[in-house]
Amino acid sequence: MKRIFNFSAGPSSIPSTVIKKIKKELFNWKDLHVSVMEVSHRNENFFTMLENMKKNLREIMNIPKNYKILFCTGSGRSQFSAVPMNLISNTSTQADYVYSGIWSKYAIQEAKKYCKVNIINIVKKKGNKIFLSPMKDWNITKKSVYIHYCANETIEGLSIEEVPIFKNKILVADFSSSILSHPINIKKFGIIYAASQKNIGISGFSLVIIREDLLKLKKNSFLPSFLNYQIIQKKKSLFNTPSTFSWYVANLVIEWIKSIGITNIYKMNQEKSKILYSIIDKYKIYQNHILPISRSKMNVVFFIKNKYLQEIFLKMSMKIGLLFLKGHAKVGGIRASLYNAMSIEGVEKLVSFMKNFSKTYKNF
Ligand SMILES: *Cc1c(COP(=O)(O)O)cnc(C)c1O
Repeated sequence: MKRIFNFSAGPSSIPSTVIKKIKKELFNWKDLHVSVMEVSHRNENFFTMLENMKKNLREIMNIPKNYKILFCTGSGRSQFSAVPMNLISNTSTQADYVYSGIWSKYAIQEAKKYCKVNIINIVKKKGNKIFLSPMKDWNITKKSVYIHYCANETIEGLSIEEVPIFKNKILVADFSSSILSHPINIKKFGIIYAASQKNIGISGFSLVIIREDLLKLKKNSFLPSFLNYQIIQKKKSLFNTPSTFSWYVANLVIEWIKSIGITNIYKMNQEKSKILYSIIDKYKIYQNHILPISRSKMNVVFFIKNKYLQEIFLKMSMKIGLLFLKGHAKVGGIRASLYNAMSIEGVEKLVSFMKNFSKTYKNF
């Protein structure tokens, strides 16, 4: 059988051990003789599972006691409105939004409905390469209530891995495409959030980690209850009926991460991206326009100048079991997403295909 490797940007690859476990438990979960899909979110087994998931997350991510873990209804984008609505009550109050690419732009567009947004553009050019300016050069506004940035721009393949330096300012970050891929110093943040369909599991919810004092801030009066962090916390994330199956899958993925260890996961992610970028830089046929300092380890974006060759690359790779390498419609090119579930073996297969492809077509 041909080995398949899934490079999808999201929803993305799930560890095969997890899928096997789902298959095994599908008709009889926790000896209840029904599928987990058919169990109430108020069932004690389900609640135990939720507590287990929280406990494991706290351990893996080293989340301090004064931070709360919330599982929220809605995809990552729901947090683009939940964040400003939970932190700001008056639309003339200011917030700083760092612009680094398409996802941060979407967050900005949404936030503008709820507060006065100061946009800090950190996309810089050096020669023909782009990079994101370091935090010390971000032009923070004195009066802003919080700073928002996107830790990993999934579409362009740009990332910010610095440990934050901001003091006396609430820092909010969208970690949708890089959460659980490396250790994060939670204490530096007010809020971290992420969509569920990349490193956490399948689509269906968003994870929010919030410093508890922020739960008490005055909120936008139109904030829907199901997006209200204080209510979600009080109800232990069970205010409204959650997407139970996606929580179930997330719990299994988180157990899988725990069994490997976040440090090992991080090492593997560094290794995978290093292998791939070194091939992109070595062979002339491939181009990446980002300075190494801002290159994403999760989403590696590159191009083949000749559009016709690029099409052939995408068709051939798909045929040999390297799936979904087509770049996002907004930027084109090729994108290999190397989330936690992507093995080094998968990256090696891609790299070997790229070497052969380059040899075959170098004089094209
Ligand atoms: C995937 C993603 C989101 C969330 O998208 P949804 O479709 O709303 O889940 C948000 N931010 C970033 C950086 C992402 O990669």
